[in-house]
Amino acid sequence: MEINAICHCGQVELKASVLPPSVTSCNCSICRRYGALWAYYSPADVSITEQQPSSVYSWGEKEIDFHFCSNCGCLTHYRSVNNPKFERTVINARMMEPAILDQIPVRYFDGAESWEFIDK
Ligand SMILES: [Zn+2]
Repeated sequence: MEINAICHCGQVELKASVLPPSVTSCNCSICRRYGALWAYYSPADVSITEQQPSSVYSWGEKEIDFHFCSNCGCLTHYRSVNNPKFERTVINARMMEPAILDQIPVRYFDGAESWEFIDK
């Protein structure tokens, strides 16, 4: 199975070969603003094509780089950096085709307070 996540203009494309078991909706200060649904992958399992370098935002401890298409502005993925205990490439599943995203359960994570899943 090929999972494609593509920004609106097509400049940034991510590919993976397996569906994630779930995608995560997080209410932390940044995720609630982005409105992303996160699909977690090992970096080796995702191929990233950027026709132009993406824009990057990081803050605080600077252990996460959020990547945005430099043309259309879509938040396509984030990557862990400087943290050997958490090596992930995390795709914004909102960039996937709706028919694919519909197959994946959404889990709700309380990144704002308890740091636990709060599925309804
Ligand atoms: Zn784009």
